Amino acid sequence: MTRSKWDQRIRRADELAAEYPFAADVLRFYRHVARLQKDLYAGLAGVGNDLSLLVPRFPDFLESIAAAAPDPLAQCARDLGERAPADWVAALESFWRDASQFQPEPGRTAELLACMFLQPYAEYLADHREPAPPRETFGTCPFCRSRPLAGVLRPEGDGGKRSLICSFCATEWDIGRMVCAACGEQTVEKLAVYTAEQFPHVRVEACDTCRYYIKTVDLTKNGHAVPVVDELATIPLNLWAREHAYVKLRGNLLGI
Ligand SMILES: [Zn+2]
Ligand SMILES: [Zn+2]
Repeated sequence: MTRSKWDQRIRRADELAAEYPFAADVLRFYRHVARLQKDLYAGLAGVGNDLSLLVPRFPDFLESIAAAAPDPLAQCARDLGERAPADWVAALESFWRDASQFQPEPGRTAELLACMFLQPYAEYLADHREPAPPRETFGTCPFCRSRPLAGVLRPEGDGGKRSLICSFCATEWDIGRMVCAACGEQTVEKLAVYTAEQFPHVRVEACDTCRYYIKTVDLTKNGHAVPVVDELATIPLNLWAREHAYVKLRGNLLGI
């Protein structure tokens, strides 16, 4: 079951690439990354907590990224691929230690590569941990402390139940309907919601207290959506938010 989540993401990237030409390049590259991540995830059984056992897979990963990525990411993958294995270990371990603090931006290419490579490992650990009692937290994942990438509304009763999805380990946790995902603000006048006609099932939820925003994917309006992929595809919503001086709570895998 956990394996099929990668297939869902890959299939959704194909669907949206056909639907939104402006996001087609981004989605094609994402699909490439998701396929690599699916293979990495499948190979993790038995690795346990030992990050160094993953390192031998890094060169192939870099080579495949270099073949499909836009520059400067492709160049960075080629450069990293030429370094000594000890450098890879150091780079991956260093990223892993501070992963929860990472804010993807287009210029942070080496860290973006480490993030893409280690994300299946983070998801694997989250999928195989002891279940913890549910907790409502703002701003960070209750499991790995990374920031949420997107919100989700799932059908429940007459409305929708809102949750947040971790940008790194993909843990999903519940949060109230009317509360800022970043700072916990609950004053209705401080919380802005923006939707565009083009994407009836995705909305920008912004906060005038902390100035952060997150996109929430409404599965009550579109049950085919896959939040992490629909988040990636709805680029015009990011532009709206930026024009209104809101900052994304957490950039996505492509640094946008
Ligand atoms: Zn997490
Ligand atoms: Zn806030």
